[in-house]
Amino acid sequence: MITIDGSEGEGGGQVLRYSAALSLLTGEPFTIRNIRGGRAKPGLMRQHVTALEAACAIGGAECSGLMVGASELTFRPGTVTPGEYHFAVGTAGSTGLVLQTVLVPLMLADGPSKLVIEGGTHALAAPPYEFLKKALLPVLNRMGPNVSIMLDRHGFYPRGGGRIVVEIEPSTLRPIECVERGAFRTGKVEALVAGIPFDIADRELKAARKVLVDWPDEAFAPIELPADKGPGNALLIEAEFEHVTEVMCGFGKLGVPAERLAKTAAKRMAGYLASEAFAGPYLQDQLLLPFALAQGGAFTTVKLSQHTRTAVQLIRRFTGRGFQVSETGDGTHLVELVESG
Ligand code: AMP
Repeated sequence: MITIDGSEGEGGGQVLRYSAALSLLTGEPFTIRNIRGGRAKPGLMRQHVTALEAACAIGGAECSGLMVGASELTFRPGTVTPGEYHFAVGTAGSTGLVLQTVLVPLMLADGPSKLVIEGGTHALAAPPYEFLKKALLPVLNRMGPNVSIMLDRHGFYPRGGGRIVVEIEPSTLRPIECVERGAFRTGKVEALVAGIPFDIADRELKAARKVLVDWPDEAFAPIELPADKGPGNALLIEAEFEHVTEVMCGFGKLGVPAERLAKTAAKRMAGYLASEAFAGPYLQDQLLLPFALAQGGAFTTVKLSQHTRTAVQLIRRFTGRGFQVSETGDGTHLVELVESG
């Protein structure tokens, strides 16, 4: 039984989700205390309960103490069973983060799966649909499995009501090298608005343009979704390279000016473009688990995030596998799997 202090490192929901995924993958049970102890409102929120319920459903696991507000739980994994599953967060909690909990175990299962996940598809501090489809899944598919994702309906904070459908054809994971991102192909900025004034999209695009000055006018597009999908707003910035596509985003929030969220997201993309790294600041922690299970491989990335440092520690505790990180210049880091460390 592994004991985790949920306030250590990044101290958020990722500690819990990665622990559940690693537990399913290794067969090691765990107890976690101080769940999300590093957050302003600690304890389990609805989306974390759904993520753990999903882990229990696919993994025949038992989880005691699983309820909203809980700060401690014990998780005992069973056998991962592929199949058709439906998970509903019930709030705008992220569908992508529920997927993050069960994806790698199902990629290594002994049959295909189909998941329907309902909740937020463009939620704050979580991977939006476009990031999963264009940035994360193409890299995972190069490792062997075939994972596809479809957006059935957008879901924004606070209403939620979005739906993604994910189909997974499993395979063993082969180590891959994601060191070079290759030549830049195209950049695209889309401002999504649903049920809110359309000029918010224009203001966001104008602010993003001031940062991404080399991108042509045609790269910037407002997209108006039907009002019944809102209220909602997301700015999606994509950079397609020969070997990887990165997606940075900003999410509309009451009280945050459109210009500010657009400038922050665009600057994050500008930082990535100025580097030579393969993975940006969010792709990096999401590549660690599949790379650890592939037992090899390497990727380059920008400055390491706290999420990444925390995931490295968790992976080491559950699997004994470690990552070696070295700086290759210009702030780019090479992350390589080492057998133990
Ligand atoms: P936590 O904050 O502990 O709930 O973990 C959040 C997870 O969502 C981490 O795996 C982050 O890499 C990921 N994430 C947060 N924001 C984004 C974003 N804008 N794009 C992609 N992934 C994100």
